[in-house]
Amino acid sequence: MKVFGDDFVVTPWEVEGEIDYNKLLEYFGVDRITGEMIEEVRRLVGDVHPFLRRQIFYAHRDFDKALKEYASGQKFFLYTGIAPSKGPMHFGHLVPFLFTRWMQKAFDVNLYIMVPDEEKYLAKKVDSLKDVDERVRAVERIIASLGFDPDKTFLFRDREYIKHLYDAAVVVARRINYSVAKAVFGFGSDTSIGLVFYPALQIVPTLFEKNRPVIPCAIDQDPYWRIQRDIAEKIGHKKTSTVLSKFMPGLDGPTGKMSASKPESTIFVTDDEKTVKKKIMNAFTGGQPTVKEQREKGGNPEICSVYKWHTLFTEDDKELAEIYHDCKAGKLMCGECKLRLLKKVQGVLDEIHEKEKHAEKNLEKIKYDGKLASQMWEWEFEYE
Ligand code: SF4
Repeated sequence: MKVFGDDFVVTPWEVEGEIDYNKLLEYFGVDRITGEMIEEVRRLVGDVHPFLRRQIFYAHRDFDKALKEYASGQKFFLYTGIAPSKGPMHFGHLVPFLFTRWMQKAFDVNLYIMVPDEEKYLAKKVDSLKDVDERVRAVERIIASLGFDPDKTFLFRDREYIKHLYDAAVVVARRINYSVAKAVFGFGSDTSIGLVFYPALQIVPTLFEKNRPVIPCAIDQDPYWRIQRDIAEKIGHKKTSTVLSKFMPGLDGPTGKMSASKPESTIFVTDDEKTVKKKIMNAFTGGQPTVKEQREKGGNPEICSVYKWHTLFTEDDKELAEIYHDCKAGKLMCGECKLRLLKKVQGVLDEIHEKEKHAEKNLEKIKYDGKLASQMWEWEFEYE
């Protein structure tokens, strides 16, 4: 699905230009997350993650229903995933995982993480399955270092767990016509037949429980889940709710998003301290060309990549407001502002690297031995 605005293009593979997020709501036919919904989250769990209160996650489908069901005692479950591709994980991948971690903790719910270890191979983005396997191991290690609840999380790789997925995938696949899949995913005559079947597998985890699945993801991923919503009730399950984010801003300018193909636009979890510092100190700012002018005229946080990253990683609202006002008033210089961001970003990485020391043990739990994981190795799809 391709969405064009006057000044932007959005497809599942490409985001370019100055995005008009109001227009995207219309194009995708999704609802804005309202102030009342944010207050309802606060009432239910006593807290609201900055990504939600700052409208980085700003749109949804049926999240209001999921909250209502939760308030009446019926929990939802979370579902996310990552298809290992070229290059290590970066902050564009981490942000949705950090939000999902908060959601799991705040609502005390189950989380399923799919690692499709065939998708990029079928999409011909990776040359060999052996390469995929190596990348999968690296991705799994990082996920196991993010601090998900070991007894309420199940991480699985498609090729390893396929025996449990296949019955449900067959039931789902029968109900998706090729014309629909083609329109949503943009399949062409050179698409492998494996990739055409893959969406059926991707839908299966939404059927792991009878409760409502909630999927936090970027807004361009929403069309994928519309297919699930078309068929879920017909096979006795609930329609997926999506909680949709804006695109993660790159460090390299006001347009576009963090991308592995532009290493300067993001920070990889494998970047050492020196590289992290270099990338942040070279980030695009809304500052004036000289310190003197910055003092006289103030900066422009609205277009500043460093400020956008502060909205992600400076959790304290008061501190964020201070950065904004001090920048505008010419009291804050870009060098100092970048160093403050560096501290926050390095803090996120340090926490992951500290937890990585126990990655193997945690991975065993979320894949095999934890409470939910061991139950899921017994799971079978109930079909008529
Ligand atoms: Fe951006 Fe900070 Fe410079 Fe303002 S002071 S323009 S927010 S880097």
